[in-house]
Amino acid sequence: MAEVNNRIRFDTLADLGKVMTCESAGTLTLRCPVCDCAQTHVQAASTRKGNDHGEAIAAYPGTEQRGTTPYRRSALCVLVEGETCGHQFEIVFQQHKGDTLVQMEILGQRDPHREPGVRG
Ligand SMILES: [Zn+2]
Repeated sequence: MAEVNNRIRFDTLADLGKVMTCESAGTLTLRCPVCDCAQTHVQAASTRKGNDHGEAIAAYPGTEQRGTTPYRRSALCVLVEGETCGHQFEIVFQQHKGDTLVQMEILGQRDPHREPGVRG
């Protein structure tokens, strides 16, 4: 696993074990890809619009469009924040030629004046 231009690159399935662990039977737990913090909070979901007018949708139901993707179809993005570390990252579900690509992008860190786990 490596970070390239703020995007986590997964080279093997073993890399997945660095951001997802099995804390209890049958359930995976998402970890912060920056510092390995196990407590994370979903903050928001949004859509990046694809560039094909026939295939891309402006926004997945229940989300707002925030940006675009270079792919033909739109992407669903889930913003997550580490509880104590404040690292912010997005999990991006990108449709591409029948596949759903799952990517992680590191965005930065929470405003230090905002309480952990509270959207701002
Ligand atoms: Zn972190």
